Amino acid sequence: MRGLKGSCELQRKRIEIEGIVQGVGFRPFVFQIAQLHGVRGWVCNDSRGVVVEAEAASGPLESFLSDLRGKTPPLAEITRFDVTDCTARGAQRFVIRDSVEGTHRTARITPDTHVCEACLKELFNPADRRYHYPFINCTHCGPRFSIVTGIPYDRVKTTMVDFPMCAACRDEYQDPNSRRFHAQPNACPVCGPQVRLLSAQGQGLPDMDDPVAATIDLLRQGRIVAIKGLGGFHLAVHACHSDAVAELRRRKARDEKPFALMVRDLEAARKLVRIDAAEETLLISTARPIVLLDQIPGHGLSPLVAPHNRSFGVMLPYTPLHHLLLEKFDALVMTSANISDEPIVYRNDDAPRRLCGIADAYLVHDRRIHTRTDDSIVRVLAGRPMMVRRSRGYVPRAVSLSHAQPAVLALGAELKDTLCLTQGDRAFLSQHIGDLKNHEVYRALEQSAAHLEEILATRPAVLAHDLHPDYLSTHYAQQRDELPRMAVQHHHAHLASCLADNGVDAPAIGVIFDGIGLGPEGTIWGGEFLVGDFEDFLRAGHLACLPMPGGDAATREPRRMALSALRHAYGEDIPSLIHDDGFTDQERRLLQQMVARKLNSPLTSSCGRLFDAVAALAGVRQVVSYEGQAALEFEQAVERGDETAAYHFEIQNEGNLLICDPAPLIRQVVEDVRAGRDPAWISLRFHNGLAQVIAEVCCRIRLQTGLGRVALSGGVFQNRILTEKTSGLLEDEGFDVLLHRQVPPNDGGLSLGQAVIAGRRFGKKST
Ligand SMILES: [Zn+2]
Ligand SMILES: [Zn+2]
Repeated sequence: MRGLKGSCELQRKRIEIEGIVQGVGFRPFVFQIAQLHGVRGWVCNDSRGVVVEAEAASGPLESFLSDLRGKTPPLAEITRFDVTDCTARGAQRFVIRDSVEGTHRTARITPDTHVCEACLKELFNPADRRYHYPFINCTHCGPRFSIVTGIPYDRVKTTMVDFPMCAACRDEYQDPNSRRFHAQPNACPVCGPQVRLLSAQGQGLPDMDDPVAATIDLLRQGRIVAIKGLGGFHLAVHACHSDAVAELRRRKARDEKPFALMVRDLEAARKLVRIDAAEETLLISTARPIVLLDQIPGHGLSPLVAPHNRSFGVMLPYTPLHHLLLEKFDALVMTSANISDEPIVYRNDDAPRRLCGIADAYLVHDRRIHTRTDDSIVRVLAGRPMMVRRSRGYVPRAVSLSHAQPAVLALGAELKDTLCLTQGDRAFLSQHIGDLKNHEVYRALEQSAAHLEEILATRPAVLAHDLHPDYLSTHYAQQRDELPRMAVQHHHAHLASCLADNGVDAPAIGVIFDGIGLGPEGTIWGGEFLVGDFEDFLRAGHLACLPMPGGDAATREPRRMALSALRHAYGEDIPSLIHDDGFTDQERRLLQQMVARKLNSPLTSSCGRLFDAVAALAGVRQVVSYEGQAALEFEQAVERGDETAAYHFEIQNEGNLLICDPAPLIRQVVEDVRAGRDPAWISLRFHNGLAQVIAEVCCRIRLQTGLGRVALSGGVFQNRILTEKTSGLLEDEGFDVLLHRQVPPNDGGLSLGQAVIAGRRFGKKST
């Protein structure tokens, strides 16, 4: 009898749920399962997440709780689920209550998401009231992070506050059985945002009843149109129209850096690039990143889309507006609308001024973008996705840390900057901010820091920055002098970033290969073997140092590094090469003297610069027009990856350091060039040689330290051939190999490493 009584008796539970539970249709989901199981009570959003009070007999209540845990909406992600008993009150029905604003804000905001299948169907259904409406969305899709101004996530805390809903939209918004129940960006042609086409001068064009159709006409004619998207403007041109692509390059002053493509659908993409299963999954994921894919010969697009490059950066349409435009094209060039190093343009009033002389017209809309967000870039490597740029579609999703730590705001370094703010055991990286080389990007950093602190309601306890005193990110930390700050060495931050990315909080060998970063004693590092953890590190070895004749100029001119490498391998007696490096005899003499007299020729162990040297020696590239170009083209020179023949480094002991000297390798390259070997041959042997020396040095470090775990980080490990070969060799030797997954191996992931190091050190200091 007791059991029977228990099962009929009303029980009431309070359920507190945290994670990504706002703006993803969570409350209607709760409402619907409450109806299903005959549960009464209420649900509401608060600043931590969602709170439910549910009342029913124990049987239905258990079923309700089980569905609540197990059947969450597609975009939701639960990080805390707490159930407590309370006193039954005899509730009569189940309701959705208004949001309450608390002081503790831990509610997560979702990333911007690709328009869902249900919305797409309506978009192309002539009978639907949102037929061809470019801003169709629902609780499962649409803009989020880019339009949020604060939390809790509600319409008034988004830029949709500008658009009062019409009666029809309000009905959907209030109907728990509608897909648009509490869809904050809900809108329709009657009440919502509208597109407009503006002239090159930014003036409205007369008699424009279909701005999208007019834009399609302009693009077909080979014009350049600036199109406002989700996180900012793109500059668009017809990808088959070589004159248009050439004109875009000329006006943007962008010589060779590849342009991204937006392609109509998978079928159209398969005519341009090879796509494997993992790549397909990425292309059609809700984040809709740019995926780097190998071109198919005879693809038919303008060769100027990606000159000297064997891959294309491809994304599928991700907003309803993109779908409308791409209905009429196989592929459009869609490159971020910015001028050289400035951040992407994202405001209507700014666009005609900043893009003056570049765009022939502007397709704008009146939904404000609150936070500009560039397209993300991903490539598949060793069968899994690797971030190259983590931004739209991923931000502000958190990286889980193995332990809670003090709140740290980490500021990154200089290139590809991102921020990272930690809150408990979660790390939130900002969107891609850019290269911190001018005031505009610095302003973007300030705004992003303020916005992250606002939406997470977290004030940092400590700031983390790079050792380099002249970076603008360091300057920002110094400006906020009310907060303590910690300088973190660049390559140590890379190591920690890779560990945190893999949820590992233990010592490891770090192979950190990148362009350039400041070492502890003022030298320039970039080809490092470290041993360390979140707290500290030691340098166990590095690539031999080469002079960089002319300093920064050597980064722009791989041929300078080639001269430097030749001098390193042959001394005074430099052999003449077959390739024309473009230097006059006098210039070459001058550079050799600079190196000999150690004038403006800082030493670096950078692997990026070694790549440059060998790429130039192999005749692949003498002068670059964008960062990393020589190494990228050298990697792409490899045609067959399965051979194992390799060039050799000499490993020397210098005190406690293992030095990998490329002198024998350089001499082998010269012999092969003389023997008429092609770049494919030279590149493959170089990659093999580098992978082998990494494995060899790691084995020696394991003998000394007993460490069997290797983290591969730094921008060089975006190189697929090197990374796959290196991790293969290391795994054959029995190592546990960690590669980056959630954040990029390049400096875009650096802030995560800075944040965990500063968190650990600061936590120790304050206990
Ligand atoms: Zn939808
Ligand atoms: Zn409406």
